[in-house]
Amino acid sequence: MKSEIVVIKLGTSVLTAGEKTLNKPRMVELVRQCVQLKRQGYQVVLVSSGAVAAGRAQLPKPCGSSLKEKQMLAAIGQGQLIYTWQTLFSLYNIPVAQMLLTRADVEHRARYLTARDTLNELLHHNVVPIINENDAVSTREITVGDNDNLSAMVAILANANKLMLLTDQVGLFTADPRNDPDAKLIAEVRKVDDKLRALAGGGGSNQGTGGMATKLQAADIAQRAGIETVIAKGSEVDIITKVMKNDAPSTTFVRFDAPVEGRKKWLLSAPKSSGALIIDLGACEALIDSGASLLAKGIISTQGEFKRGDLVMVKNQHGHVIAKGLCSFSDSELSIIKGCHSSEIEDELGCKSSHVVLHRDDMVLLECI
Ligand code: GLU
Repeated sequence: MKSEIVVIKLGTSVLTAGEKTLNKPRMVELVRQCVQLKRQGYQVVLVSSGAVAAGRAQLPKPCGSSLKEKQMLAAIGQGQLIYTWQTLFSLYNIPVAQMLLTRADVEHRARYLTARDTLNELLHHNVVPIINENDAVSTREITVGDNDNLSAMVAILANANKLMLLTDQVGLFTADPRNDPDAKLIAEVRKVDDKLRALAGGGGSNQGTGGMATKLQAADIAQRAGIETVIAKGSEVDIITKVMKNDAPSTTFVRFDAPVEGRKKWLLSAPKSSGALIIDLGACEALIDSGASLLAKGIISTQGEFKRGDLVMVKNQHGHVIAKGLCSFSDSELSIIKGCHSSEIEDELGCKSSHVVLHRDDMVLLECI
């Protein structure tokens, strides 16, 4: 039987215990719990932040305010980060591997499949993959930007069963617990909606990049892919063990009953969209109620520039995103054929082409109307 895979995301605040550099006693504790999980038959993948913080501690003068400096610090600190993990796991004779990813590595389908194969191979050989964003080479176009979203991508790549986001908060609260004594922990979330997003706000701790908002984005992607996500406090004693036993104060995002599969998971996790299609109510209903492909007839207008095969968002007339997928036409072709019957497309464009704008196999639904 294939063992269950758990992806554990460790934020900078967890790895530094709120200090300026990596907190080794904290990391020892986390490794001990990961090893315990492995002994119980789970496979463990770590998404580890902390490179920038580790780099910062190695330089004599304070720096890291500009993006350039942060990228330099990540390049300095990543070595120490992985060295520390490697040293600690080697106490248990467990090898680790470093994988540094950017959005570009998963956006391109062939690279996505290669990253997936490498990850699978590492797990097959009982190695603990330790993943971080490749900050030193990440430009604005290709960066994931935060390790919460990166960890959801990794959980999909690894085909994980559980994603644990360990941070400096116990979970998601009904209000900000720092200034509202009535704030209550939300123990379970079935679906991330606008109300929850408003609760999560923005911002993170001083040293990390993410906050609750990026954790919700990650949980939303993961639950659609059939992966349970738990947000919990990384500084709590035995936190990994407790989360596995459902015995920690935390917020759990339950997995969807009918998660998306295979290639659609890739669509869900990685690619950035180039533009959008605005569709009418009839088309919305056909997509959501009958799982139909999107036809030119239902398209009202387009936004942005895109080529054939690019990823686009699908929005209803109120601008609400309901799906995303790979478009069979460019924005300029769609400006000619929008509203047309499928049988007219060839004549309108003067060449043989697809009969559907977004095929159902190349599309994931994101919302209900
Ligand atoms: N990749 C960054 C680092 O290793 C952290 C990004 C994040 O925490 O979201 O320092």
